[in-house]
Amino acid sequence: MTLQLPKGDKKNAIGIMGGTFDPIHLGHLVTAEEVRIQFNLDKVIFVPTGRPPHKEEEKVTDPEHRYLMTVLATINNPSFAVSRVEIDREEGKSYTIDTIRFFSNYFGSKTKLYFITGADAIMEIITWKDYKELLSICHFIAATRPGYSLHKLKETIGESCPEIMQNISIVQIPGMQISSTMIRQRVSAGKPIKYLTTDAVTQYIYKNKLYHNLSG
Ligand code: NAP
Repeated sequence: MTLQLPKGDKKNAIGIMGGTFDPIHLGHLVTAEEVRIQFNLDKVIFVPTGRPPHKEEEKVTDPEHRYLMTVLATINNPSFAVSRVEIDREEGKSYTIDTIRFFSNYFGSKTKLYFITGADAIMEIITWKDYKELLSICHFIAATRPGYSLHKLKETIGESCPEIMQNISIVQIPGMQISSTMIRQRVSAGKPIKYLTTDAVTQYIYKNKLYHNLSG
């Protein structure tokens, strides 16, 4: 795994930013930076999914493209890093529990881990592999757009397992109106995506003809 963290560099709090990042956009970057500041994190490590457990493989862009766009988007923030841990996992689906176990071993038990992702994804957490262990070894941060019904998250999870909500923080992010789906659809329709993601990611999308002629 190529993760530029110096060995022996003791970290107290690390954010693990999980997502498909198809493509990464300004909403993701604002989320990571806002959470880093609010939770006083030493670093946020972006982890593009390899084979998302809940998605049809052929509908997700090649992992190398998603990884490279994530590197391009995060390159000028020294507090951000990108990990290939899920992309390089040889077989099977990308379960978050395997990723968190990996980082837990890598940093050691003194480092607190925060898993950051979209609230809609976290809504399904009780269906994730080994979710109880997951919640016991890291804290979850659910990113939402302003105006999103927080009751929805609390009701969906809280009704079946009220104790889980103690391990989940909800953070409202202004830039979350942007979505990867919106960007893919705009590229496919020939509409501009300026100011929705970084210039480098925009150029990468056009250069590699990603999201052109989308069907479905
Ligand atoms: P998704 O279902 O594609 O996304 C759900 C919502 O969350 C979308 O609105 C999405 O917006 C947003 N979102 C996704 N990642 C985000 C992030 N890092 N910050 C802010 N918003 C985010 O979710 P996904 O990307 O496939 O999965 C999210 C994470 O959950 C991944 O790390 C995945 O591996 C993990 N997960 C694990 C399991 C499991 O272990 N069984 C199951 C499901 C998901 P955009 O489309 O704009 O990003």
